[in-house]
Amino acid sequence: MGVPRKRIVVLGSTGSIGRSVLDVAARLPESFEIVGLSALTNGRLLSEQATRFGVRRVAFGGPPQAATFGPGVVVRSGPSALEAMAADPDADLVVNALVGASGLRPTAAALRAGKRVALANKESLVMAGEIVTRLAAESGAEIVPVDSEHSAILRCLRAAAAGEAAGLVLTASGGPLRDLPLAEMEAARVPDVLAHPTWSMGAKVTVDSATLMNKAMEVVEARWLFGVPLDDIEVVVHRQSIVHSFVRLRDGSLIAHLGDPDMRVPIQFAMCYPDAPALPFVRSRPETFGSLSFEPVDPRRYPCFGLMIGAARDGGTAPAVAAGADEVAVAEFIAGRIRLTDIARVVEGTLARVEAGAADSLESVIDADLRARAVAGELVLGIERLVA
Ligand code: MG
Repeated sequence: MGVPRKRIVVLGSTGSIGRSVLDVAARLPESFEIVGLSALTNGRLLSEQATRFGVRRVAFGGPPQAATFGPGVVVRSGPSALEAMAADPDADLVVNALVGASGLRPTAAALRAGKRVALANKESLVMAGEIVTRLAAESGAEIVPVDSEHSAILRCLRAAAAGEAAGLVLTASGGPLRDLPLAEMEAARVPDVLAHPTWSMGAKVTVDSATLMNKAMEVVEARWLFGVPLDDIEVVVHRQSIVHSFVRLRDGSLIAHLGDPDMRVPIQFAMCYPDAPALPFVRSRPETFGSLSFEPVDPRRYPCFGLMIGAARDGGTAPAVAAGADEVAVAEFIAGRIRLTDIARVVEGTLARVEAGAADSLESVIDADLRARAVAGELVLGIERLVA
């Protein structure tokens, strides 16, 4: 056909999203060529992926890891290697599937270089939404969401007339602990929290789903991605994860995108964008959906949700502070050092202690994140002593 293949860099290729991106690419070899891959520590899988896709450039996000790569493969390491890969002149599309604040600078580097970015890294927009969207506007680069909710919204917006959309309604599964008695939330164990009822995802986002921090971050993402004020973005708990989100129209009606939950659907959409995705990863059948339920968010069950939304209303570096504190607290929870309910305590305490300022540069945002991490670490130590 003579249509050149889309050349893709996958940052975070060994994680849940990254592996799905490569799964899609392997099924559409005439459409996609993988030109760069990065991992944090999983050198063995990174090496396998590089061999399988004939990739010549790989990077480790942190220190170099012991791994053997084929001849001619250039291996770099450290955060600057990720930024260089994100701006790779050979890449048409950068998939950012990095976890946490480490994703921010590579997103900025890709956008500065005018790349289309398929963004799975929520922190890029949560920490620095104004800066990131400005960088995209300046270079003419596009940000395409990978998150299922934002992907659904983008598809619904295509169905609305110009100026017809009046708001967004994001759906939330409620996470693995949505039915646990409130008094038992404190004793929730790590394996229970990591067993998500409807979506298969990485550990950080699965814990964030249990606290609904993830959904609050998605509200902030949606605000920047679609230019919708916070007050016009609602969230409903929808247990079945069949309705991936809604767009509210000016006449009060709603448009929704529905389907069986499989992350390869939004991932393929982002990879093919603006063209239509073709591979049917699901075959959604309404008769198998059963009853669909929609409930309001219970603020007592999900204090992290309100903390992040409050930080977003405060603006400036406050969302970066909340996100940094959450990243520390979630890691400490997964390591078994604090309880699930302590995550909100750490986020709230950090927001109270770290003064927010203007988010007028990447440096100011990253500085706020680092200060938040230091304070969150101190708060964790205090909690550990109580638990011990
Ligand atoms: Mg999501």
